[in-house]
Amino acid sequence: MDQDRRRAWVEVDLGALTHNAQVMAERARVRIVPMIKADAYGLGAIPIAHALECLDPWGYGVATVVEGDALRRAGIERPILVMTPLLEWDFPAARQCRLTPVLGDPQAIAVWCRTSDAPWHLSIDTGMHRAGLPWNCVGDVREIAARHPPEGACTHYHSADVGDETVQLQEARFREAVAALPVRPGLLHAECSPWLERHSPSPWNLVRPGVFLYGAGGGEGAVVRPMAVVSVRARIVSLRDVPDGETVSYSATYRAHGTRRIATAALGYADGYRRALSNRGSALVHGRRVPVAGLVTMDMTMLDVTGVDCRVGDMATFIGRDGDEDLDVNEVARTADMSPYELLAGLRQRLPRIFLGGQA
Ligand SMILES: *Cc1c(COP(=O)(O)O)cnc(C)c1O
Repeated sequence: MDQDRRRAWVEVDLGALTHNAQVMAERARVRIVPMIKADAYGLGAIPIAHALECLDPWGYGVATVVEGDALRRAGIERPILVMTPLLEWDFPAARQCRLTPVLGDPQAIAVWCRTSDAPWHLSIDTGMHRAGLPWNCVGDVREIAARHPPEGACTHYHSADVGDETVQLQEARFREAVAALPVRPGLLHAECSPWLERHSPSPWNLVRPGVFLYGAGGGEGAVVRPMAVVSVRARIVSLRDVPDGETVSYSATYRAHGTRRIATAALGYADGYRRALSNRGSALVHGRRVPVAGLVTMDMTMLDVTGVDCRVGDMATFIGRDGDEDLDVNEVARTADMSPYELLAGLRQRLPRIFLGGQA
């Protein structure tokens, strides 16, 4: 048995990833900046970046200096935007790694521009109220932006997946802020995946898709759907017949009605398979959908495989396809009452990542 498929693992289909990135680029009709923060939403930023290189993205987006540094060490030469505000003590390391900070705080901008000529992007808060310069406060950076113009300016939509009037309001505020700058930046960017799923083309110069690349999204109102990228699979490590009236797992939340065949799969919440899926989630075994029985435990999850011919060592699929059945990442997230972003980014390092197709 190959090393990585012994217990439990994540498969990442790089062919589907590049297909999804192509869909985003075609809709945007401008160059893309794939968001590969948080280790590419948990999937592995370095192989993901290498796979996306063939699409000639403008650059990549990360959240921290350490993430950017890892990409530089892996040979990525394109611009790397750090989307989370950097603090002044991060600046030397950011410059050393040739990272482009996305800044919105006038004080931080002044320090960055005083200590280097390296490019920076201006972050404009148009309603998300998380980071960035408030759209109606551009006057606060006019002077510094005249002397050290930002290479780019950007904003972020808080409800692009709803597609309501807040998106238009934010876009109008962004326009207003950009117009108030002394020099119009060459690179303007705002759109994330949910926007691109619903609209086309981008009115700006770059787009920043993330989750769609990884096979999630495509909800209500979307006119494109991503190809599945991620599968999570685990071996069945134990099997037993549980007699009528007996219970399964901690706190006895599952009780057998009649004799039930229970399989134990080597995947638990320490792998990122959430406890919220207890008695609610399902898995695929030999192409058949079977329910999670009882509470998900740290390292193991029990499945009711009654009527399914399976053995110890067989594979159970918790996200992804097996035969004609499919457990879509969006569906699993919904069942767990979480977003697919959170589910993917929560897959733990204990699961080896296996990259299929493409060139990692
Ligand atoms: C994560 C992120 C994105 C990508 O969003 P998706 O919804 O995953 O496409 C774009 N811009 C910023 C600022 C982000 O933090």
